[in-house]
Amino acid sequence: MTTPPPKQPAELVERVLCVLAHPDDVDFGFAGSVAQFTDAGIEVTYCIVTDGDAGGAETGTPREEMAPLRRDEQTAAAAVVGVHDLRFLGYPDGRVESTLDLRRDISRVIRDVRPQRVMGQSPERNLDRIYASHPDHLATGDATIAAVYPDARNRWAHPELEAEGWEPWAVDELWLGGGIAGPSHYIDITTSIERKIEALLSHKSQLPDPVATGEMVRGWTTMIAAAAGLPEGRYAEAVRVVGTR
Ligand SMILES: [Zn+2]
Repeated sequence: MTTPPPKQPAELVERVLCVLAHPDDVDFGFAGSVAQFTDAGIEVTYCIVTDGDAGGAETGTPREEMAPLRRDEQTAAAAVVGVHDLRFLGYPDGRVESTLDLRRDISRVIRDVRPQRVMGQSPERNLDRIYASHPDHLATGDATIAAVYPDARNRWAHPELEAEGWEPWAVDELWLGGGIAGPSHYIDITTSIERKIEALLSHKSQLPDPVATGEMVRGWTTMIAAAAGLPEGRYAEAVRVVGTR
């Protein structure tokens, strides 16, 4: 399989914003790629819609302690791949809807960060991979796309943002994980697979078994690399690139 090039030449990307529903989603989907971006001098910001306070119920951690714990875990995971700018929107875990409020809140972050590329979740439910299609992921993906186009670039969308001083900003492209349309671009993460695993292991409340997590991550990124036509021993992440200019 050939790999179509990303729409935007890499040298034109200075800032990347990742918008995801839960702490740990960005690490499952994109941490290997993010490590390579920050190595290349690209500034990466995470915007996490919920605090993941409905996660890890089986560990017995009181619910009120889960949100700060998961913010701390995501902050530690981000540092592993060179990300130090995190925005937590504080929506309730398990109840995310693609509302105008969420679109406005994501648009505010886009206008502040002014990224050339936004990475996020697909709004399409994949019936073959139902875990990737958590309702919060679908809603966050839908709101993220709406924030990229048209809200963040439209002066008349969410007029309160302009009143707050945020100028419109047009994102060049979206990179979406999951979904049913399938990937259009593969990122060889062989040089950053160890950091991806280390980032995921920062989410101790969700992934308490380091050996099992390492095996799981190597297993599926090997399968993605094979789908990309990369030689044996390589690891990859996959996205669908959507031009938004
Ligand atoms: Zn999630």
